[in-house]
Amino acid sequence: MNEPHPPEHELLLARALAGESDSDLAAQIEGCAVCRERLAALAAVADRLRTSGELQRSVLRDAQQRAGAPGEERVAAVVRPPAPAPARRAPRVWARLAAAALVCALAWLWWHSGTAPSRGDLFLGSEAAGELSPQGTVAEFGTFTWKADLPPGGSFRVSIFDASDTLHTKPLVRSDNLGQPSWTPTPQQLALLPDSIYWEVEVLDAFQQPQDVLPGSASRSR
Ligand SMILES: [Zn+2]
Repeated sequence: MNEPHPPEHELLLARALAGESDSDLAAQIEGCAVCRERLAALAAVADRLRTSGELQRSVLRDAQQRAGAPGEERVAAVVRPPAPAPARRAPRVWARLAAAALVCALAWLWWHSGTAPSRGDLFLGSEAAGELSPQGTVAEFGTFTWKADLPPGGSFRVSIFDASDTLHTKPLVRSDNLGQPSWTPTPQQLALLPDSIYWEVEVLDAFQQPQDVLPGSASRSR
């Protein structure tokens, strides 16, 4: 008794989810049981897509205000909506918009799901203080370690300052981008360090933007 649900109906659903309000569109969806069911089920997903879109726009806005963010053009190419096309090509445009929205939604869900792969027992705690080493008085500086989750596509970067450089204007030593929560400066770099240091770990996202900074202070008692 139910009408069949031809492939063209997916386009109706896409238009409805995009917020198009059209009495003819509404009537067509209302006339198909499968469409009605799917539209109801997709409403929750559409909400998340909208939230994701707001996040995406805010990220893009932020990225555009910062000149030359590495990787910016690659990301923009993916998430920027396609240019307006002639009406007869509407289905392809919709498909691309839907695909872009899906990519964003998946990235957003992944980012918020907290299921980033664990790196063994390095991420057991969540309190910032006490998770950095060296901290306080130590015999000698060597390997620097910390506990923090690595953002998807992100990295860590360590900067070490003279403790007397209270504004942290000029790092004496700075690491490359790191994929693990540990860094050992070279002997030459260690030789540059004074007895008292301030050091920090920047947690960088895929755009090289700091998401968090973990500060530490240490002195050596040689
Ligand atoms: Zn249908």
